[in-house]
Amino acid sequence: MFDNRRYNSASTYFKKMFSQRVQKIAIDAGFTCPNRDGSKSTGGCTYCDNQTFKPFYCSADKSIKQQLSEGINFFAKKYSAMQYLAYFQAYSNTYADIEILEKLYSEALNYDKVIGIVIATRPDCVDDEKLKLISEIAKKYYVVIEYGIETTCDDTLEIINRKITFEEMESVIYKTASHNIDIGAHLILGLPNESEEMILNHATKISALPIKMLKLHQLQIIKNTKMALQYNENIYNFDLYNVERYINIVVAFLELLSPQIMIERFTSEAPPDLLLAPNWGGIKNYEIVHKIEKRLLQLDTWQGKLYNK
Ligand code: SF4
Repeated sequence: MFDNRRYNSASTYFKKMFSQRVQKIAIDAGFTCPNRDGSKSTGGCTYCDNQTFKPFYCSADKSIKQQLSEGINFFAKKYSAMQYLAYFQAYSNTYADIEILEKLYSEALNYDKVIGIVIATRPDCVDDEKLKLISEIAKKYYVVIEYGIETTCDDTLEIINRKITFEEMESVIYKTASHNIDIGAHLILGLPNESEEMILNHATKISALPIKMLKLHQLQIIKNTKMALQYNENIYNFDLYNVERYINIVVAFLELLSPQIMIERFTSEAPPDLLLAPNWGGIKNYEIVHKIEKRLLQLDTWQGKLYNK
């Protein structure tokens, strides 16, 4: 069963696919997004703060080469044999003219030991021309487009000011798959107004899509965001998970999820100085993974046990 795990782990896939350890290096290539620059909105998604995941070397003030050089130097001290993926992570990394995209992706791919790129973006920031470019790159390198889906409920998308519908996202995901590009997706569990039943329904809807990898994370309220203001105004509008409840919902989610979809992450860990709530006492991501694995074993259950094609 999934190589002795009870879920389809992306790290097992990476180990099989690549001869050496592979590390993602986050890059801020200076993009913005249509939800910030006024094309769709100026306020951004209510939970968004791109500082939460930026390592020290990742800054739009530096060239891509410099960010890769500093990031690789940092990780090379930990492990001698490594290959790297340039992770275009900050904001919407397809939100520019095609010539600019081509130049930025090439700069990363031409860097020594970089074997591919991961492109995080919004589904409404790609078109056929961009998908064609990315599919050409994917013929020579490892490439994944990672779409922020966050929720499959239109009401919640409205509440978090995402400025897109689930139907629009589905249509782009199918179009991307038709270009033979691997697709990753990102979901937040515990958004305002979402019951456990609604969250579990995401698993069914996501399973119907041609998605290869999935990142899950718990809702975290980051200081100085719109959501932080809403939280401070009325915390009772939020039902934030503690660790135990989160593990339970993840296990139930996995049972409904297609066994074909690989899991890349279960949680996220915002820097403590930026995090307003929930307080999980500094528990590390790997400890949560261990708890999830233990719970799956205790319940003798696994990813896809209740998946209904
Ligand atoms: S989450 Fe993404 S789309 Fe939303 S405001 Fe932040 S960068 Fe823009």
